Amino acid sequence: MLRNDMLDQWDREHFFHPSTHLAQHARGETPNRIVAGGKGVFIEDRDGNKLLDAFAGLYCVNAGYGRLEIAEAIAEQAKELAYYHAYVGHGTEASITLAKMVLERAPKGMSKVYFGLGGSDANETNVKLVWYYNNILGRPEKKKIISRWRGYHGSGLVTGSLTGLELFHKKFDLPLDRILHTEAPYYYRRPDAAMSEADFVAHCVSELEKLIAREGADTIAAFIGEPVLGTGGIVPPPAGYWEAIQKVLQKHDILLIADEVVTGFGRLGTMMGSDHYGLKPDIITIAKGLTSAYAPLSGSIVGDKVWKVLEQGTDENGPIGHGWTYSAHPIGAAAGIANLKLIDSLGLVANAGETGGYLNKAMKDVLGGQDHVGDVRGEGMLVALEFVADRQKRAFFDPSKKVGPSVAAALLKRGVIARAMPQGDILGFAPPLCLTRAEADQIVSATAEAVKEVLG
Ligand code: PLP
Repeated sequence: MLRNDMLDQWDREHFFHPSTHLAQHARGETPNRIVAGGKGVFIEDRDGNKLLDAFAGLYCVNAGYGRLEIAEAIAEQAKELAYYHAYVGHGTEASITLAKMVLERAPKGMSKVYFGLGGSDANETNVKLVWYYNNILGRPEKKKIISRWRGYHGSGLVTGSLTGLELFHKKFDLPLDRILHTEAPYYYRRPDAAMSEADFVAHCVSELEKLIAREGADTIAAFIGEPVLGTGGIVPPPAGYWEAIQKVLQKHDILLIADEVVTGFGRLGTMMGSDHYGLKPDIITIAKGLTSAYAPLSGSIVGDKVWKVLEQGTDENGPIGHGWTYSAHPIGAAAGIANLKLIDSLGLVANAGETGGYLNKAMKDVLGGQDHVGDVRGEGMLVALEFVADRQKRAFFDPSKKVGPSVAAALLKRGVIARAMPQGDILGFAPPLCLTRAEADQIVSATAEAVKEVLG
């Protein structure tokens, strides 16, 4: 086995890590962690640390680590047929079966699933499909996509543009044309403290209406949103938000893309986040929980209305000019089947609702009254703490103090991984859906100690 110090040196010299301070990492100023194994909600690193992963990797290892059922399904598939493509009608038992299983779990009115590799490429697919759709319908001007500030939809060219976080735009010449952003449904950061939730929903609707009026409804193709904002700060929408937004979209004939990369397959305590909030999307993005990240696989679930037009388009123009070499990769599909079966047999969707509710309540009870904890929020197996310099005024800390990352570091010392979210002093939790109440207690007590250490 290679020595840790050798791996550390190779890492600094050769490895371009995503979302990392490249210069500090290359200079050896930031820690690295070489992860060696995992079981349930725990991972183990090469220094022998056992850590409770309260962010499930990147909110993706939903079934938990070390699931032999999934590993064996992958191995069997690799032995039998590691690869064949899905172009011009080709499939495998695994890819066809998984497509059926996904549709059985999707909301009503969905027709087909296109498989990709990750959430970013699935959203790129979605935007292309929406543009194609409007071209076939003879509406070549209807192409702009509305996303929300603080939305996260990937970090490609179009998807990085859809993402509404400054870090993903700055110095990359993003967002591209045709991508617009509107108000985030972030009640805690409402513009006026006196606003009720209903007032704030009306404000979000009015901002959206103003944007549509300014641009012209005949130029806007789709609206994309996560049922609960994820990377932008784990922000569940205020009551009535999705109902009100969908009314506006229907009025202006704007398609809805529900980005369920985080919320799909159980995280909110329902199979899909769309079920949870009564969303009726035209396209749904799935990834992460589809395979619990045992293999890379994503999907674009296309609803009947869009599907019919795609069929019409290929009757008129020939085969759809869209595809990846690894679309519907059999190993990913085998992992997806085993994972979805496991989610059912272990009752993980129900557990996400029950134990997630327990975790949310415990976090509120223990930390909700603390001086510098401005907000404790969440839904299902998603929780966030937002730290503030002054609770009354909801005042931000000076960003140079790096309060969020400091609390995450203090928590790590106590053996628990949470994520300092990229914009604001927000600490996010998204444990595997198999979390137990005892493990939830461990997360909450370690967090309370970490918050005390950093903020007193
Ligand atoms: N959409 C959402 C809601 C996400 O949270 C993410 C990733 O975190 C993506 C899309 C992009 O997925 P990927 O990182 O697999 O490209």
